[in-house]
Amino acid sequence: MRFTEELANRIWQAFESHAGSNVHCSLCGKDQFTISDGFAVVDLFDDTPIKYERKARHGIPCASFTCTTCGNTYLINLLALGLKDILELDESPPRGGQANG
Ligand SMILES: [Zn+2]
Repeated sequence: MRFTEELANRIWQAFESHAGSNVHCSLCGKDQFTISDGFAVVDLFDDTPIKYERKARHGIPCASFTCTTCGNTYLINLLALGLKDILELDESPPRGGQANG
């Protein structure tokens, strides 16, 4: 799914319904944020040392909100916002265990 303004609005609405519309930055205390025009995925690894080749078995799909004053950036889990329908999820369990991402 392409990231559109409509999708950004939907993510904002979901975020506000979960966190409220009066969210303040934890660093500077201001309350103005922008949403990035794309998704972020926090890759999860379970082996060390981490060999980063962008081949994580699983990850956390996130929307990225950035404080317009100080740049503090929040990654909010799209699944926790109830937006599973905008993701194309691979529901197969990871090697040797249960899905936990
Ligand atoms: Zn800030």
